[in-house]
Amino acid sequence: MRSIIGLDEFRSARRSLFGTVGLVPTMGYLHEGHLSLIRRAKAECESVILTIFVNPTQFGANEDLSKYPRDLERDLALIAPLGVDLVWMPTAEEMYPAGYQTWVEVEALTKGLEGAMRPSHFKGVTTIVAKLFNAAQAQKAYFGQKDAQQAAVIRQMVRDLNFPLEVVVCPIVREADGLALSSRNKYLEGADRSAAVVLFRALSAAQELYEAGERDAEKLRMRVKAVLETEPRAQLQYVSCADFETLEELELVKGKTLLSIAVFIGKTRLIDNFILG
Ligand code: AMP
Repeated sequence: MRSIIGLDEFRSARRSLFGTVGLVPTMGYLHEGHLSLIRRAKAECESVILTIFVNPTQFGANEDLSKYPRDLERDLALIAPLGVDLVWMPTAEEMYPAGYQTWVEVEALTKGLEGAMRPSHFKGVTTIVAKLFNAAQAQKAYFGQKDAQQAAVIRQMVRDLNFPLEVVVCPIVREADGLALSSRNKYLEGADRSAAVVLFRALSAAQELYEAGERDAEKLRMRVKAVLETEPRAQLQYVSCADFETLEELELVKGKTLLSIAVFIGKTRLIDNFILG
């Protein structure tokens, strides 16, 4: 496993990789969710590239960029046994040098949900992911269903810009009690940690209703809300029951559907989702 910072060095190391190359983009502070993407890439590709970059342009002015958790030493130790070929950890100065002015934006898909709560977030995501795709020249790229809208937006970008690459979306890895793994779970202390399981409980309750035959999307959203309201530490930001591809809100659930939520537990903002159908 080789760790690289500079772009030129990364490009030349990339040229020495053989076979199908899989790319796993992350912001570091790795957990089992990230590791599941790496394992999948390893199983499907001859060579695997991991990137670790806390991308400043996807954070809003009042978000947690400066306190986003970082621990490169720990990250490198965690992935050491996994057989990653290259780890690229670019600097913000090299990704966005003075005078930088080129952006990639996906339109309709980024307007709702996370995009509505975090304006300019997806512009930062699609721009950095396009830059990583250009540098890595991978045949496959691995993302988590945890960030469902991000996965949809990247699929759209890949189609629209004809990136010659397959997007592979991997299932959400959860704690034993159902909490979806996230680097931000580090902020959950004491009672907030146990309260956070309410996201999984709320989505599970709506899924049960769906499995019992309910197809009225508003009833499913109401079920999620009702469970979240039982937890005083939880503050719902949005609940969505939307078409899986277009992310348009539904009245009636028909095909593949994304049930997604954003919830504050104390000061920590968490997202989670289930796929119905
Ligand atoms: P991040 O470092 O938060 O940008 O995440 C890097 C990648 O890991 C993204 O594609 C995420 O969707 C994915 N990921 C994060 N958490 C999980 C999880 N609990 N299960 C599966 N994938 C995840």
